[in-house]
Amino acid sequence: MNIGFDLDGVLYDWHDVVYRYCVNNCNYTGSFSQFWKDYNSFSDNKKLNFETTPIFFSKKIPSPSMIRFLTDVAKDNTIFYITARKKEVHSATINYLERYKFPCTENLIFAEDKAIYIKLLDIDIFVDDFPTTLDSIGNSADTYLFARPWNESICHDYNCINSIEELRGKIL
Ligand SMILES: [Mg+2]
Repeated sequence: MNIGFDLDGVLYDWHDVVYRYCVNNCNYTGSFSQFWKDYNSFSDNKKLNFETTPIFFSKKIPSPSMIRFLTDVAKDNTIFYITARKKEVHSATINYLERYKFPCTENLIFAEDKAIYIKLLDIDIFVDDFPTTLDSIGNSADTYLFARPWNESICHDYNCINSIEELRGKIL
């Protein structure tokens, strides 16, 4: 099978890196989930800084259990990483996946419209934390929503998973 994963919010906890940065450096005192409700009201410039500064995309070390899981998946399947990350952090992304030995790094795709690639690459299963991305895929793949605070109110409308290892029983 061809199995696709989103990066931020699924395989990489960019949201936690940004949140911790703001707690430690910008006097932010709210909770993680409140922060991501407040994020939309930040200035475009501030948001762009978080989304284009490479260090935010390399700070978090992946858990050994996640790398083990992906390596197991890749034994009998092909993994694709499909992300909407901006061009300023593309090389940091490539370096990160290679540094931590993610399997199938040749299948890293940067796309604003993920659904086009999911359809053309015959992706069988796709995991994302953003419900509208899954909606845009329609029935062309089985989809899983990675449970995060920003989707908890509608998580029950999707095949919801709370950890990446939860997929082990479903796809291996
Ligand atoms: Mg995401």
